[in-house]
Amino acid sequence: MTTQQYDYIVIGSGIAGLYSALLAVEFGSVLILTKGGIADCNTQYAQGGIAAAVGPEDSPNYHFADTLAAGAGLCNEEAARILAEQGPQAISELVRLGVIFDTADGEVALGREAAHRMPRVLHAGGDATGARIELTLSSLAHHSRIHVQEYTTTSRLLVEGGRVVGVAGLVNGEGDEVEYLATHTILATGGAGRLYRYTTNPEVTTGDGVALAYQAGAAVMDMEFYQFHPTALRLPGAPPFLITEAMRGEGAVLRNAHGEAFMTGYHPQGDLAPRDVVSRSLLTEMRRTGAGNVVLDATHMPSERLAARFPSIYNFCLTHGLDITRDPIPVSPAAHYMMGGVLTNTDGETTLPGLYACGEVACTGLHGANRLASNSLLETVVFGQRVVRRSLEGGWSGPWPEGVFPLEAEPSEEAGAPSIEGLQALNWSNVGIIRSREGLEEAAGVFAAWEASAPEGGDRGDRELANMVTLGRLMAESALVRQESRGAHFRTDFPETSEAWLRHTVFMKQAD
Ligand SMILES: Cc1cc2nc3c(=O)[nH]c(=O)nc-3n(C[C@H](O)[C@H](O)[C@H](O)COP(=O)(O)OP(=O)(O)OC[C@H]3O[C@@H](n4cnc5c(N)ncnc54)[C@H](O)[C@@H]3O)c2cc1C
Repeated sequence: MTTQQYDYIVIGSGIAGLYSALLAVEFGSVLILTKGGIADCNTQYAQGGIAAAVGPEDSPNYHFADTLAAGAGLCNEEAARILAEQGPQAISELVRLGVIFDTADGEVALGREAAHRMPRVLHAGGDATGARIELTLSSLAHHSRIHVQEYTTTSRLLVEGGRVVGVAGLVNGEGDEVEYLATHTILATGGAGRLYRYTTNPEVTTGDGVALAYQAGAAVMDMEFYQFHPTALRLPGAPPFLITEAMRGEGAVLRNAHGEAFMTGYHPQGDLAPRDVVSRSLLTEMRRTGAGNVVLDATHMPSERLAARFPSIYNFCLTHGLDITRDPIPVSPAAHYMMGGVLTNTDGETTLPGLYACGEVACTGLHGANRLASNSLLETVVFGQRVVRRSLEGGWSGPWPEGVFPLEAEPSEEAGAPSIEGLQALNWSNVGIIRSREGLEEAAGVFAAWEASAPEGGDRGDRELANMVTLGRLMAESALVRQESRGAHFRTDFPETSEAWLRHTVFMKQAD
């Protein structure tokens, strides 16, 4: 086992990891460990863009209010205030680093997305915002004091005397663990869409960061809140692919199997209702009509405008035999964004000194029970900057959870052996868009059994499966604990929102 020493270790090479690394390198040596190639991450696929109150009619107060409304009463207001107020400056930062946002008539072009009261979403390359940001930041990461180590799976956090002092990793995802030591370790491992059968996320999103932090003793929060995007492409043979909400913002309409535009019957904001409402409405329409999908109809929009504004979607669909200027797009909901994660304060500190978390893996409580569209890219820049600043100050003033829940499920005797396909199917059916006590109890019992029988160690695939089991259990048990429906969490046995549940769910291994 060899050991290397750095000032900062950053785990993950999406926007959160790269941006933090680019700031941190001003103050010390940086190692970026990433599980796949540098661009294997959610960031690469972000289409709609990045929200910030930069328009002439807009203000951070409006952005703040829209974020709180989407979060259904559970947002951390301090975090939401910071995000809204520092948003415009974060955009300037990205521009300074070389990201070129789209313009129209000499002004920055702003798209409209669900639950934003006005157009507020900057985009780059039409619908290629994430790819443009990833390319810009990764090219800057070729820096003499940043060492980017691809295809290295972080397998453990190293804790000494209650402090995280580095990580262990598997080079090329196999073999003996290598130890990497650092003064500051920044988790930027992204989300966990792969826990679900249908997802918009790429293969690396197995929730490793949350599992690693939880196993090391850190608190995790609000794991019951997973956002399902209503419109993932449902074409036979096509890989997971998102059809951005911005397309509905430009006028595309959802229709059921009978060709009826149904969303106005579900919500006053119609096709631009909050994502959880649209996802549940789609599922209801699919069940009512017996269809496996609905369609997103953009055929009434001018063809040239459609192809120019959404070039990635237009070309992807065309490659799979669908001309979106002539044919409606078959879509259905898919797991998209993890609102919960490793508990942090607004400086990115976790409950473990030495460990910071930033981006989708982190949970400041900013998104509450549901994320406002296009707030996540912005979050990484605003809070990445705060992580690095905090690391320079020394000491630890991290968060301390107000109350911690125990994990209670008894291992099921009928669980069988764990497999990724089995886990994804179970999570999709029992811990998905519509939940119930029986389904959640069944899932929690199976995850508890799989956790108890999981072998230690193994290669990247073994570690990912173990991490997914840990996350599945945390999600199912958080969803069981929360006896209400709020934001992205909907239970048929508790369909109403309850004042008594205006609180967060926190789990922490040491407290079990
Ligand atoms: C299809 C799609 C469209 C989206 N559109 C938008 C949008 O328009 N606007 C918006 O704001 N948000 C959007 N999002 C969400 C947004 O892209 C993500 O929340 C954001 O990019 C997360 O950035 P991140 O750096 O935290 O994580 P990621 O970009 O996912 O990066 C995580 C990194 O961690 C690495 N990693 C994970 N586990 C390990 C491990 N064990 N060891 C080493 N490395 C590891 C991964 O390989 C990866 O490099 C979209 C997401 C998807 C999937």
